[in-house]
Amino acid sequence: MATTTATTQATAPLTDGAHYLVAALLKNGIDKMYGVVGIPVTDFARIAQAEGIRYIGMRHEADAGNAAAAQGFLTGKPGVFLTVSAPGFLNGLAPLKEATENGFPVIMISGESSRSTVDLYEGQYEGLDQRAYAVPFCKASYRIDNMEDIPLGVARAIRTACSGRPGGVYISMPDTMIGQTMNAAAAEAALYAVNDPALAMIPSQESVDAALQLLANAKNPLIFLGKGAAYAQCDEEIQSFVHKTGIPYQPMSMAKGLLPDDDPQSTASCRGLAMRTADVVLLIGARLNWMLNFGKGKHWNQDVKFIQIDIDPTEIDNSRYIECPVIGDIKSTMKLFNEGLSKYDIHASKEWIDLLAQDTAKNNARFGAKTQEETQPLNHYNALGAVKKVMDKNHDVILVNEGANTLDDCRDIVDMYLPRHRLDCGTWGVMGVGTGYAIGAAVTTGKSVLSIHGDSAFGFDGMEVETACRFNLPITFMVLNNGGIYRGDFEDLGKSGDPSPLTLDATAHYEKMIEAFGGTGYFATTMDEVESMLTEALASKKPCFINVQLSVHAGVESGHISDLNPIPVVGPLSHSECVDLNEEVVDGKLVQTQAK
Ligand code: ADP
Ligand code: MG
Repeated sequence: MATTTATTQATAPLTDGAHYLVAALLKNGIDKMYGVVGIPVTDFARIAQAEGIRYIGMRHEADAGNAAAAQGFLTGKPGVFLTVSAPGFLNGLAPLKEATENGFPVIMISGESSRSTVDLYEGQYEGLDQRAYAVPFCKASYRIDNMEDIPLGVARAIRTACSGRPGGVYISMPDTMIGQTMNAAAAEAALYAVNDPALAMIPSQESVDAALQLLANAKNPLIFLGKGAAYAQCDEEIQSFVHKTGIPYQPMSMAKGLLPDDDPQSTASCRGLAMRTADVVLLIGARLNWMLNFGKGKHWNQDVKFIQIDIDPTEIDNSRYIECPVIGDIKSTMKLFNEGLSKYDIHASKEWIDLLAQDTAKNNARFGAKTQEETQPLNHYNALGAVKKVMDKNHDVILVNEGANTLDDCRDIVDMYLPRHRLDCGTWGVMGVGTGYAIGAAVTTGKSVLSIHGDSAFGFDGMEVETACRFNLPITFMVLNNGGIYRGDFEDLGKSGDPSPLTLDATAHYEKMIEAFGGTGYFATTMDEVESMLTEALASKKPCFINVQLSVHAGVESGHISDLNPIPVVGPLSHSECVDLNEEVVDGKLVQTQAK
């Protein structure tokens, strides 16, 4: 810990709030921080860097929050991000809430303007009662008013972020506290590291036996692996249970790769049929939220029974009756499940496995053809088919993915082979998380990252391309440009000549952005170009950008979730009204003409 040298011989060395907070973070193994500096946290970030924390200065607080969230998901330890007071703080609330919804451990630290003037609404610079504002957006919101409380505040934040269902925690750091001083030796002596912030939570043996008995009674048992299962970092226990029982499984998007996607027990290609015909479903770290149709309705077998393994007891019965709740951490629980296997005869019926295999073969043949058929211009299927070929040879590349069709089709087409190698829009289906996730993943792991965005999604957080270049991170950004939100051929309903509310620039050369910052840009218009450029970009381990030209007609409105669109009772046009355009790629450029 750095100390301020006393002016007189008699005075003991002092430390200040900023140095002490850095020391407390380091004591707890927090050695990275993402953020955007300004008053009153500029010196805090400089001190953090000087004392050994890797500080990643970013361009927007939301992206810094997402980078920290990616780190939290990948490591199981809190990612930390830093913001200035009021406006920077408010920008950080969205990723803080997103991380909390996703169950990723994150700590947001913000500087806060002097409390005495804020509380009397005297009109302080960037004055806001931040601790109170943060409350609904995270698991807990703390303010450290006295520097003596820093070890306690940091410990509270780490334990809250990591224990139970992980999530976001806020720490407010008033400017008055940053400037406080105390005896350096006393401060050092009071530092401590949190003792096991995510203690094992062992489920009751009764609940484990009840679950195994229900599985043994099933004819068509199905396992759902969610991102909680990936987060739990007990890959072998889960793989062993799936393989020993032979039960078909369905990976949620961020659980892809927990078992390799080409595993014969995967039901990824026959999801609908598996859900409609399963009689017992074992949920491992997956919630019955909108993504699983709340566990009810036409998508599910009406008589299905659920076993749910979760660390959070309040998740049980969230949207329907659960026959067998198992409350515990997934690692401890899977250990008991595996140990109990010798007592029960658990397997899926041969008829059902055959039925799923037939459906898988049929769907793979139909879908696979679309990913291999060249068109001009390209569409999502064949562009991502080319990406799949490269990723099949580069299993250890981390994939970040956001967009509508770009997300849905990439999840279906690009196979994952290793756990925790896929990050995407998550529980809220958020756009604008991608570049932050990519930076967090690259900084945390040092591995190559492929960050695939729709052109609309990329618009939210594209400026972080500069951060990737400044830190020389091994990230390849890829935009699939179909010229709009969902697609680029919607009509100007006002007949004003203005673009439609969904339209963006179909001919934009997004790849030029990275060239402005010293990275390498590529423009791809064919499947071969996508494949060769991506191969070269990943091999370079340097910041690269591949702009892939798609047809403006590629994609469907709202991707796979168009049923969530409310249908207007009165309205001028249906959702799908499109402009009739002819288009071709000439000399590497998209050329459009109005069709007759
Ligand atoms: P997905 O979107 O992939 O279906 P969700 O985010 O909906 O996944 O669900 C993840 C679930 O996993 C959450 O309910 C969370 O409480 C739970 N969870 C997270 N970590 C653990 C853990 N270590 N042990 C048990 N459950 C966990
Ligand atoms: Mg688009």
